[in-house]
Amino acid sequence: DINKPAQPEKRRIGLMGGTFDPVHHGHLVAAEEARYQFGMEKVIFIPAGKPPHKTRQDISPPEHRLEMTRLAVSSNPHFTISDLEMKREGLSYTIDTVRAMKKVYAGWEIFFITGSDAVLEILTWKNVEGLLQECFFIAATRPGFNLEALGHKLSHLSREAVAKIKTIEVPALAISSTDIRHRVREGRPIKYLLPEAVEKFIYQNKLYQI
Ligand code: ATP
Ligand code: MG
Repeated sequence: DINKPAQPEKRRIGLMGGTFDPVHHGHLVAAEEARYQFGMEKVIFIPAGKPPHKTRQDISPPEHRLEMTRLAVSSNPHFTISDLEMKREGLSYTIDTVRAMKKVYAGWEIFFITGSDAVLEILTWKNVEGLLQECFFIAATRPGFNLEALGHKLSHLSREAVAKIKTIEVPALAISSTDIRHRVREGRPIKYLLPEAVEKFIYQNKLYQI
């Protein structure tokens, strides 16, 4: 395949963090495109334990979010899941997750994959310079969140840090977990927004009804 990116020198792994309440095709498309464009051997989906940036009180139990994620990635041999954040006590911080993964994947390049909304949030975190010493960031386009603010947000960062942030275009999917939860509650369809097995799991376990 003439369009296939060149084989990278170091082995590469992607981390896809999220609440995944529920996981949907927007997550899967972004992860697969990032994996392909950057020649990663695999992408690990890591459902958040207690996400520091989420204030919603009624986040689904970790076991449900982990199981939905497991079902969603099962058809892709390059995708896997980790319960690392869910097992950790207290809030989950990306830098701790990346450092833990670096121990397991010593010598690999680590890419943290996000949507364009999440990358802008991340750049406002404290010690973002430290984080960008540990891994690359990939910001995937997401409808409704343009990346124009990115340049402005990067202006205070060092050149080395800026070089660790990559942007990619993914086929636009205006899908969000919030919208899916609303749809379930209102009895509107969610079919084709997420994998069928995840849809079944939601109805079987009566998630998002209230
Ligand atoms: P919620 O509406 O509950 O915030 P969400 O759909 O944003 O859910 P998250 O679990 O918050 O899903 O997102 C995990 C990661 O996936 C974030 O980096 C987010 O930017 C990215 N992402 C989510 N949906 C899309 C999408 N449709 N296209 C590209 N990236 C996405
Ligand atoms: Mg979100």
